[in-house]
Amino acid sequence: SSGNIRVYCRIRPAFDAEAKTVVDFIGEDGSLVVIDPLKPWKDGRKIFEFNRVFGSSATQEDVFRDTKPLVRSVMDGYNVCIFAYGQTGSGKTYTMSGPGVESTKEFGINQLALNDLFLLSDERKDIMRTKLCVYSYKIHVLMVEIYKEQIRDLLADDPLLTNHTLEIRSCMNGNGLPLPDASVHPVNCARDVIDLMKLGDVNRAVGSTSMNNRSSLSHSVLTVHVHGEDTSGNIIHSCLHLVDLAGSERVDKLEVTGDGLKEAQHINKSLSCLGDVIIALAQKNSHIPYRNSKLTLLLQNFLSGHAKTLMFAHVGPEGNSFGETISTLKFAQRVSSVELGATRLNKESVEVLELKAEVKYIIL
Ligand code: ADP
Ligand code: MG
Repeated sequence: SSGNIRVYCRIRPAFDAEAKTVVDFIGEDGSLVVIDPLKPWKDGRKIFEFNRVFGSSATQEDVFRDTKPLVRSVMDGYNVCIFAYGQTGSGKTYTMSGPGVESTKEFGINQLALNDLFLLSDERKDIMRTKLCVYSYKIHVLMVEIYKEQIRDLLADDPLLTNHTLEIRSCMNGNGLPLPDASVHPVNCARDVIDLMKLGDVNRAVGSTSMNNRSSLSHSVLTVHVHGEDTSGNIIHSCLHLVDLAGSERVDKLEVTGDGLKEAQHINKSLSCLGDVIIALAQKNSHIPYRNSKLTLLLQNFLSGHAKTLMFAHVGPEGNSFGETISTLKFAQRVSSVELGATRLNKESVEVLELKAEVKYIIL
């Protein structure tokens, strides 16, 4: 498929290296064939098509190589959303945040992306000195969690504010983002971001009984806001959203009742709503169901046909999770077979800015 939505599939290495894998074939062209362990003959074979499939031996570097052009386009004024989808334990957090932050080899997409944006920013600064028409950038980040359809600021300056629920505003005033009350932090290097993400993870664990449980029940959103200005006064402002989604396991699989059941239903609803929004956009429907979940409402302005979207669908190779694997692959296939509208550059030319200033002058 083409358009502005890309879907990559990533297969986690098996927990037990001896065990039989459900993966039958991975094509260079993005095809994936899996086999039902209970029907190991022909009709147990299922074929899927994505933009790319990363097998279990793919490194963080391999995965980032194919993500980097998208990340870089943020510096040219495009909005970009990257989602990690999959059942709990399938490797979402590994892909986004990596197994560690001590070496760049361990970095996930979050750290690699920021690293690259700073690199690009420095490069363009250097060219700036040679008086070519390029940008000078300011980069800010914010990090929120959506839990039980409530949004919490994970980087609140006052830790007491972490439990405060943030409201979404449709007009983007204040910090220029739909969350005017969220704390926004300037960052100058990858280290700054790593430190903030550590703080975010600590705050995320606060008030939750078990971290593991919490991360499978909530979405975490790291937003990178880029402001750039070039030598002739052109301005860009764009956002990169890096979203580690809640676990996609179906409610009937989770052995939960009461409050837990309600929670699980919220999650299933918000994930299927994300799929519905992406598909409604692709089909150019007049009604896009953004309001059905906090996640889609938050990302409304960044999804609405003008953004570049990448979804990583994560699966494990184990036979005992085959049912979940198939439902993840089906969801991802649905999303990948659609096409979003033309991306829009969030760039205001000098002419437009001058015109706006003139209009203001006339009104005064
Ligand atoms: P999720 O966030 O989807 O619940 P995790 O990212 O926490 O899953 O991954 C579950 C476990 O599998 C972790 O111990 C993680 O380190 C390991 N893991 C996931 N993906 C990979 C990978 N590509 N290579 C090595 N280990 C992985
Ligand atoms: Mg996780």
